[in-house]
Formats: sequence, structure tokens, C-alpha cells
Amino acid sequence: MPRKMTRANAALLYERLSQSRPDPTTELHFKNPYTLLVAVALSAQATDEGVNRATGPLFKIADTPEKMAALGEKKLGGYIKTIGLWRNKAKNVIALSNMLIDEHDSAVPRDRDALEALPGVGRKTANVVLNVAFGEPTIAVDTHIFRVSNRTGLAPGKNPLEVELGLEKSTPADYRQHAHHWLILHGRYVCKARTPECWRCVITDICGFRDKTTEPKAAKKTVKKTPTAGKLKTATPKRKTAKRKTARAKA
Ligand code: SF4
Repeated sequence: MPRKMTRANAALLYERLSQSRPDPTTELHFKNPYTLLVAVALSAQATDEGVNRATGPLFKIADTPEKMAALGEKKLGGYIKTIGLWRNKAKNVIALSNMLIDEHDSAVPRDRDALEALPGVGRKTANVVLNVAFGEPTIAVDTHIFRVSNRTGLAPGKNPLEVELGLEKSTPADYRQHAHHWLILHGRYVCKARTPECWRCVITDICGFRDKTTEPKAAKKTVKKTPTAGKLKTATPKRKTAKRKTARAKA
């Protein structure tokens, strides 16, 4: 894990990222806070592009909790079956729509606890909705932000919550509102998981990543040293892997 970035360099990092993307926003398509909530809930372990392909036709006929509830789980499933985990997501979207109707007058609440009480809505989704729909300076930590924060040393952490709390400390107030989008877009298009494109990165001189790539050819040699939030949950301990290999060799 790289050394924690200094406050001065953290400010410089945001200054550079903000200059390269002056008007960052979510790449998910939505029409109102409700469709944003649904799009973010559908985007777990899926690409924004894939979600947009499904929600384009869906939001034309169901852009309120009432319309979605009337559509029902089965018909909703027909619209979103190209998205991973669609059965569970369809169930949750119908359940959260009913809960919004029953408990929030069909409005999306501007409150973290109320958002996280909705079926299928976790801390990350709540943070995105609070930030994008209500302008709150929250930072949702997804796999891209987790990786960038650890590689650069901006906010090293073993899990998404640790990184989120680190980012709250290291992000200057002036940059908090858009920090989520600057970091996510940087991770998605430059500081990629397998091949970080350090040779064209605007923060390469202040980034703490040890295995920086200096040219496209060298990028292929970059090893996967940075853990991802997903891998932290599922990683197999080396000792067990070695034991299994030995067992296979004996068989
Ligand atoms: S220098 Fe490389 S590792 Fe560091 S942020 Fe840029 S792309 Fe990522």
C-alpha cells in the first residue's frame, strides 16, 4: 500500500482532475430522483452502458413509483433481463417503489437512513442519490474509487467504508461536491484496473503507485497488485490455495 498522500498533493490531485473534467456527472441516464435511484440500484455489478440500454425503454413507461409498481415484477424483468442479477433487482425495485408510495408519499427521501432502509439500497447507492439528486457532498466508493484511492495514496483503506472516511478527510471542501465523479471517471478511463495508463495521467508525478506504466508496451507487464473491493471479500487465502495444489499433486 502506498504512503498516504500529503494534504497539499491531495489538493493538487483534485485541481488537476477538475481541470481535465470541468463538468463531471454520472454516466447513468435518469429523469428524476426516482429514476436515478432505480438506475443506481440496477447498476450494482453492471456497467452504466448496459443499465442505460435497459432503462431507456423502461423509463419511458415507468418513471414514477406508481407506474413501476403497476408494471409489476414480471414485466419489469422483461426490461432488465440483460443486467446481471436481474431477478433479485426486479424484486427490489418493485418493493422499494411500494415502500416509497406507502411511507414517503412517492418521493425519494433526502435522508441516508431512510434511503438505506429501502430494499436493495446500500450505502453506496444512498451516497450517489444524495450527491446527484440532492447536491450533498457525499462520496460513494465503488470499485474504481476504491482502486484509485489506494493506488494513489489519497485515501488508502481495506474496505469501501474505510476509503470513504479517508476521502472525507483528505478531500478539500471545495472539491467534495464532485469528488465522486472525478475519481470514478479517472478510474474508469485512465487508472484502469489491469492497465493503468500512467503515461497519460495528469497526476503521475504525485501518485504513490509503485508500478507505474511509462508507455503502452510496459502497461502489459503491470501486475494486478492493487486489491479491489470485490476481491477483498472473496480472496482465497494463499495457504489454502497451496494446500489444494498439494492435494491435486498427490491425487
Ligand atoms: S499515475 Fe498511474 S496508478 Fe497513478 S493515478 Fe495515474 S494512472 Fe493511476
